[in-house]
Amino acid sequence: MLQIRGAVLEHIGSPRPYATSRPINVTDVDLAPPGAGELQVRIEAAGVCHSDLSVVDGNRVRPVPMLLGHEAAGIVERVGDGVGDLRVGQRVVMAFLPRCGQCAACATDGLTPCEPGSAANTAGTLLGGGMRLSRDGQPVYHHLGVSGFATHAVVHRASVVPVPDDVPPGVAALLGCAVLTGGGAVLNVGAPRPGQTVAVVGLGGVGMAAVLTALAHNDVRVVAIDQLTDKLTAAQGLGAHETYTPQAATEAGVKAPIVVEAVGHPCALQTAIELTAPGGRTITVGLPPPDARISVSPLGFVAEGRSLIGSYLGSAVPARDIPRFVELWRAGRLPVESLVSSRIGLDDINVAMDHLADGIAVRQLITF
Ligand SMILES: [Zn+2]
Ligand SMILES: [Zn+2]
Repeated sequence: MLQIRGAVLEHIGSPRPYATSRPINVTDVDLAPPGAGELQVRIEAAGVCHSDLSVVDGNRVRPVPMLLGHEAAGIVERVGDGVGDLRVGQRVVMAFLPRCGQCAACATDGLTPCEPGSAANTAGTLLGGGMRLSRDGQPVYHHLGVSGFATHAVVHRASVVPVPDDVPPGVAALLGCAVLTGGGAVLNVGAPRPGQTVAVVGLGGVGMAAVLTALAHNDVRVVAIDQLTDKLTAAQGLGAHETYTPQAATEAGVKAPIVVEAVGHPCALQTAIELTAPGGRTITVGLPPPDARISVSPLGFVAEGRSLIGSYLGSAVPARDIPRFVELWRAGRLPVESLVSSRIGLDDINVAMDHLADGIAVRQLITF
């Protein structure tokens, strides 16, 4: 057993502010050695994502106690039996949806989430089953097969993608969720052509990554939309051509052939549908609460030949797509660093959740 420090969510649905109620406890946790097909990683950096907050506030029901964090990168410290293609000392990005590579869903090349991978994520276990985390002999659940808000993690081989040493830890971490989800939606589903416009509704880490990825294309116009003017200013800083509040975008009659919704709220999806041009596609990547509903006129979809497409994890295959994003970053066309709004310590995690809930952060990066 290795004693590690990690951010363990003890209670779901605690009252705000979390800085006071402190639902997440930064504490000592025992980490079992990697089993067959697994590896141990020393975490270097982890991003705080809205999907972490969704566990804290109960929008996404998961078992507790759970060691949170699903967007992280680190250095391989130990490999279990059967992990022959990774070496100790190599930098890896965590991919929060492991792919078994054998189920019917895996055969769709990213269009549908791996079935055993999704089941393990819901159960709070690793892909191979069970937990490697415990406290006082009692199991602690894994978050999406990663549990990256910790000094170390044991993960399944299918939960990591190696990256070259020149990719800094903060960049590598963000590739695993924000970039793969927002950027993947643009690359894999939107696939903009020169002269087209991409509109992005919701400018958190995922939305901003969609903006950056759209801007990495030649001759693509990018429209960024958010309720908060600070986010619009930030998007302008990244190079977005036009920025609007949702109301202003509707009033201005903005229409785009590719619209990415990255909020996970029914109102944002309605806005995204409204802004979609005839023949265009509304791509939804946000994760709303399970009981959320929208009201739309089906006629518009038929008469205007529009479509609404759901995209989990940007319809990405991490092992295929992370190297594509690394190449864009290395060419200077995808400044992933610019998504980091602050660097914090693990002990700041409850305050970080407040900042996320208030919408005043793009990506807060925990460094170790
Ligand atoms: Zn995430
Ligand atoms: Zn699978």
